[in-house]
Amino acid sequence: MLRSTAAMLLLAALALSGCKSGAPPVRPAGGEARMGPAAQAGPLKQELLARYGESQKERIERGVDQVVSLWRASDGDAAEFIRAHFIADPVLLDVTFLRLEATFEQLDGHFLEIGRELRRPSDVDVGPLLPIDRLMAGLDASAHLTEDLFQSKIAFEVLLNFPLASLEERLSRGAGYSRRQWAEIRLANRFSRRIPPEVQQQMAKSASEAELYIAQYNIWMHHLLAGGERLFPRGLRLISHWNLRDELKGDYADPRGPAKQAQILRVMERIVTQTIPGAVIDNPRLDWDPGANSVTTAPPPEVEEGAPNRDNKASAAPEPNTRYAKLLSNFQAAKKADPYSPIAPTAIARSFEGREIPEERVVALLTEILTSPLVPKVSVLIEKRLGRSLRVQDLWYNGFQPRSTHSEEELDAITRKRYPHRDAFAKDIPRILQKLGFTKQKADFVASHVVVDPSRGAGHALQAARRGDSPHLRTRVEKDGMNYKGYSIAIHELGHNVEQVFSLYEVDHTLLSGVPNNAFTEALAFVFQARDLELLGLSKPDAASERLRVLNDFWQTWEIAGVALVDIAVWHWMYQHPGADPAQLRDAVVQIAREHWNKFYEPILGGKDTVLLGIYSHMISYPLYLPDYPLGHLIAFQIEEQVKKAGALGPEFERMAMYGSVTPDVWMVNAAGSPVSAEPLLRATEKALSSGDAEPSPRKK
Ligand SMILES: [Zn+2]
Repeated sequence: MLRSTAAMLLLAALALSGCKSGAPPVRPAGGEARMGPAAQAGPLKQELLARYGESQKERIERGVDQVVSLWRASDGDAAEFIRAHFIADPVLLDVTFLRLEATFEQLDGHFLEIGRELRRPSDVDVGPLLPIDRLMAGLDASAHLTEDLFQSKIAFEVLLNFPLASLEERLSRGAGYSRRQWAEIRLANRFSRRIPPEVQQQMAKSASEAELYIAQYNIWMHHLLAGGERLFPRGLRLISHWNLRDELKGDYADPRGPAKQAQILRVMERIVTQTIPGAVIDNPRLDWDPGANSVTTAPPPEVEEGAPNRDNKASAAPEPNTRYAKLLSNFQAAKKADPYSPIAPTAIARSFEGREIPEERVVALLTEILTSPLVPKVSVLIEKRLGRSLRVQDLWYNGFQPRSTHSEEELDAITRKRYPHRDAFAKDIPRILQKLGFTKQKADFVASHVVVDPSRGAGHALQAARRGDSPHLRTRVEKDGMNYKGYSIAIHELGHNVEQVFSLYEVDHTLLSGVPNNAFTEALAFVFQARDLELLGLSKPDAASERLRVLNDFWQTWEIAGVALVDIAVWHWMYQHPGADPAQLRDAVVQIAREHWNKFYEPILGGKDTVLLGIYSHMISYPLYLPDYPLGHLIAFQIEEQVKKAGALGPEFERMAMYGSVTPDVWMVNAAGSPVSAEPLLRATEKALSSGDAEPSPRKK
C-alpha cells in the first residue's frame, strides 16, 4: 500500500486526478455564471492577435479558451486579466515556467508535510488515540489551495500561457512530447477543474474516517473457537484483510493448516456479510466461534497479558453495517465533486483519468487474465502439488513461493531476531539496498532520505513532495520483534520509498516527480518484495524458483483481478443507486462478489456463491485503488524482465524511477521498450507450464 496523506490519496483517486487529465474544461452544471461566452472571447483574441502577430495565434486561441472556461463572474474582468497576463516573450515565458515549477514544489511539499503531521497520531503508533486525533486527521489544510490559486489568479496565468492536454491527446501524442512539454502539460492540467474546497474537505473527512475504521479492524486469533478448540497462538492480532489473508497463505506449511484456513474463511465471510458480532472486533476479552457465531467472555487465563482494556460482556449482536456505511460515505462525498468535473463526471471516470488508462482497457486487461486458458492449466498443477482438488481457500494458494518450504514460525523467528525493533530495520536499509545492487554511495543516499516510523496499521509508505523532505516508511513491529508478515510488508514499502526518493530527487522536472499512476509504484514495490527471502539470505533464485515466481505471479494476478472488477462494479452500482442505504449496499456487494466468483472462480475452485472477493479493506478505505494491484503485477512483470536483461536491479530501478510521471505507455517504453501489456506475464506463464520437468515432487502436507 502506498499512501500520500489520506486526503491527498483520496483526492488523487477521486477528484484531482484531473491534475493529470484535462481536456478543455467545460462549464460545470449548476456552477456560478462565468464571463465566458465565446462571443466575448472572439474580439479579445482578435485584439491579442493584432498586438502579438500570427506566430502567437495558436497560443492565444488556446490560452483565452482555457481561462474563459473556468472564469466566474466573481473573478472580475477576464478581458482585463488576459490583456495584462498573456506572455508572448519566450524568455519571460521560460522564467515564468521555472518560477512556477519551483514554487509549486514548495507549496505541495509543505502542504504534504502539514498533512503528515495532522495525521501522525492516527497513522503512527504514538500511544492511545485521543478524541482530538480523529478531528485532526480529518482536516485537509490544503483543501482551499486550488480555489485560492484560482482566486489569486495564479491558476489563470498558468491556463492562459501553458497548454492543457486531454487524455486522448496525451495518449496519442505523448510519445513525441519533449520533457519540457510534459512538464508544462502537468503544470496546466493541475487546473483543468475547479472543485470547491468544501467538497474536497468532505471527501478528506470521509476518507480519514474510513481509514481509521479499517486501521482498528483487528481480529484476536487466539480467541477464535472452533468447536471449543483454539487454533491460533496467544497474542496473534491480525488486521483485516491483509493479515488474515497472509495468515491463510502461511498456513499451507502448517500441519493444522486446513482447519486454520477454514476458520479464517469463516471470519472473512462474516466480515463481508456483516454478520460478525460487533463486540468481537479488536477485542481479546471475548471468545468467538465464527461457525456457530456465538460469543462468550474469554476465561481470564486465556486473555493475553497487557491486552487492551475492552468490554468483556458477551454479545453476538452483528456489526451494524458500519463497513458499508463508510464506503457509502466515501461515495457520497466523491459524488459531490461530479458537477465540477464535467470531462470526468463520476469518481469512476476520474479514477481512470488519473491512471491515464481508460476503464475499458483496464477491464479488458483484467478479463484477459481471468479468462486465460492458462488458468485451468495452472490449477491442474496446483492440484498435483496439493494432492487434492482445489478449494475456495486456494484463491490464495502460495505454494509456488519458495517460502512455503519454511513455516511461518521459522520465518518469524528469523525476522524477530534480526529486527527486534524498528531502529534495527532502519539501520539495515543501506545493507538491504546494496544487496539489491545499489552502490554503497547510492544506498547511503537513499537510506538518509527514508524516515522509519511505527505504524498503527499494517504499514504504508508516505511520499515527500519537495527536495529537502524525506519519504516515510511506516512499519508495524510487535513487542517481540518484527514478524515475517510485517517484514515482508516493510520491504514492499521500502520499494515505494526508494522510488519516491529517486523520482523526487533525481527527476529533471519536479513537475514530473512521481510515477504515471499507483500501479507503477506498486509494481516497483513488488520488485522489492519479491526479493524478501533472498534479503534474509534464505534462497537464491535459480531456474526452478524463477519458474515458481512466474506461476505465483500469475495466480496472484488472477486472484486480485477479480477483486478489482468487484470494486469497479460496486462503484457502478452505487452510481446507479445513489439513494441506497448501508444495508442495501451490503446486499449489493455480496451479490456482486458472488456473481464474479461464480463466473470466474467457481469453475476452478468450486464454492458457489462465495463472498470472499468482497473482503479487501481497500474497497472501504481506498476506493477504486484495487485495479492498480493487478495492473501492478503486469507492470512488475515487464519491469522484472527488463531488470533481468540489464543485470543489476539497482541501476535499472533508478533509471526507471527517475523518469517520473508521464503516461503509462510512454513510461513503459522508456523502462522496458514496449507499452503496458498482459502478454509478457501470459507468455512467461505458458513457458513456465511447459518447462514442468523441473517441477519438484509435490510437497507432503
Ligand atoms: Zn504498496
